[in-house]
Amino acid sequence: MRALRLDDEPIVTYDEPEPAPNPDEALIALRLAGICQTDQELARGYAGFRGIMGHEFGGELLTDAGPWQAGQRVVGEINITCGQCDFCLAGIPGHCRQRAVLGIHSYPGAFADRLRLPVRNLHAVPDAIPDEVAVFTEPFAAALQVLEMAAIHPAHRVFLIGAGKLGLLAAQVLRRTGCDLAIIARQSRPIELLRRWGISWLDAREEGWLKAVYRRSAHVVIDCTGNAEGFATALELVRPRGTIVLKSTYAGLPQIDLSRVAVDEVSVVGSRCGPFEAALRIIPEVDVQSMIERIYPLDEALTAFEHATHRGVLKVLLRP
Ligand SMILES: [Zn+2]
Ligand SMILES: [Zn+2]
Repeated sequence: MRALRLDDEPIVTYDEPEPAPNPDEALIALRLAGICQTDQELARGYAGFRGIMGHEFGGELLTDAGPWQAGQRVVGEINITCGQCDFCLAGIPGHCRQRAVLGIHSYPGAFADRLRLPVRNLHAVPDAIPDEVAVFTEPFAAALQVLEMAAIHPAHRVFLIGAGKLGLLAAQVLRRTGCDLAIIARQSRPIELLRRWGISWLDAREEGWLKAVYRRSAHVVIDCTGNAEGFATALELVRPRGTIVLKSTYAGLPQIDLSRVAVDEVSVVGSRCGPFEAALRIIPEVDVQSMIERIYPLDEALTAFEHATHRGVLKVLLRP
């Protein structure tokens, strides 16, 4: 079968062996997959991954599996867990000590004609949700996780820095809380979407955008930039005893002003994968389809991957 594989760099292969599911796993035909920032970080060496890439997908069961019959459309949680370690038993299986991660760590990913995944990771996609929406379930769940990690109230001022793919999903989640929200963006396309959605933004390309009234004003700042500059801006914006939520992985080891964190008694929390069930419940009410930049055939995965690296480019998808 075909796949986009990461060796020293990403390559398209045509002779990948068919996935051989374990007894607790399902065999899934890919319908649509999404390229995310993490895939690009992996290609730059983050986490040292080698193998078939891809963790955002919607697919179709090729055989009966668990409660579902062949043909059922599914999406899948990306952490493959043991179910027995202390973290699994404590209800945080995403932190399993033996964790593998679809297309990210020790487990072949979804940029392929077919993939395997434990049945317990799967969620049925309701008929009303088309593939072009279902493929956003994983990143949308990750966006919802911001609300799990930080208490955001309607009276709060909240800034979100970085209107990339994840940032735009998180923006749509945050605006549903009723908080006083502004997105800090520096690309025209995302700003156009925010305008259309009626979400406030600040254009960080403009000189003096960081006005005095914004400094140390935010109860919560969400950093979706994945770079040290984003965190530094978050520190400028957060009020004493406020919270900074880190919503991306960092390619390097960023230099940050931890004294400021201590002096202002700032809470810094990480946030990663999120709840799929809730994501599937809410995703029909937000606009993900406007975020699709382009859909490429799997054969052109390298071109797609290259396209996705450009700044300001939104979601690039792969279809077998
Ligand atoms: Zn991702
Ligand atoms: Zn475990």
